[in-house]
Amino acid sequence: MLKEVFRDLADVLFPPRCQSCRTVAEKLTNDLFCTVCEEKIQYIHTPLCPACGAPFPNSAGSDHLCGDCLTAPKPFAVARSVAAFDGILLEAIHAFKYKNKTGMATGLGRMMTGDSYAGMDMQGYTMIMPVPLHIRRLRERGFNQSLLLAKVLSARYAIPLDFVTLRRERDTPPQTTMGRKERQANIKGAFGVADKERVRKQRVLLIDDVYTTGSTLAECTRVLLNSGAAQVGVLTLARAVKDA
Ligand SMILES: [Zn+2]
Ligand SMILES: [Zn+2]
Repeated sequence: MLKEVFRDLADVLFPPRCQSCRTVAEKLTNDLFCTVCEEKIQYIHTPLCPACGAPFPNSAGSDHLCGDCLTAPKPFAVARSVAAFDGILLEAIHAFKYKNKTGMATGLGRMMTGDSYAGMDMQGYTMIMPVPLHIRRLRERGFNQSLLLAKVLSARYAIPLDFVTLRRERDTPPQTTMGRKERQANIKGAFGVADKERVRKQRVLLIDDVYTTGSTLAECTRVLLNSGAAQVGVLTLARAVKDA
């Protein structure tokens, strides 16, 4: 009762605003976006690559392996992303990560559990892990954005969360301006597993905010598989689709 009064009062004092256009709106999708902005998000649907989740620009046709997965198969069993890393979602992720808007984690995490995109089968995963940040980066930012998203997924699917076993042991320069080959070299040996027994025979769902070339996620996967994990799947909020 008192809680409801406070909530109503809060709505009057701080009416819910769209995270993108700042319009006051009664109904925000995932507590984030007004209907107009929500419609601009490019959710990823079939046809896509069943392995890495890359969408195909032509909306006709069925799922098929992309050229990338045909020539160099990824170590993870499957990868999916919610929407294109562009426009409104790109701005939202930047605000979340770099402007300390950690309150957005619930809504962004909920996007990953929703049915607006070609999601993935959560059956069979025994552990959820976020891509770890190096301790230096963690101190700078104050939080690991992927862990905040992973928490939402762990609660929603009742899959245990582990954010200590997979570790970033080597800090690496930011990869934003690097190509695929450079990224692969940059990230090699950056991760380690603190306790192999923890991951042995586990089916791990790896969580990250953005899938760019997949180099980081592939490297984490290799480390987990080398430590005895049975299988690794990947789910990210956004995906760079420029060269799709
Ligand atoms: Zn809006
Ligand atoms: Zn692919």
